[in-house]
Amino acid sequence: MEKKVYQLGDIVQMKKPHPCGTNEMEIIRMGMDIRIKCTGCKHSVLVPRAKFESKLKKVLRSAAQSEEGSN
Ligand SMILES: [Zn+2]
Repeated sequence: MEKKVYQLGDIVQMKKPHPCGTNEMEIIRMGMDIRIKCTGCKHSVLVPRAKFESKLKKVLRSAAQSEEGSN
């Protein structure tokens, strides 16, 4: 199984879209649980890490890549 790589600030796509119709979530907190925020309606949800990984489809935009060279 390939390991999913994600980090704080990434925009991710989940297998199921949010009820508002948007399928882009931003990772705004990482820990035992992961808090993701819908980029459409700004609603945030806290999900256990294992559940998040099982529902994650792919990382759309990585926060690290966009900040490359600005260190
Ligand atoms: Zn939403």
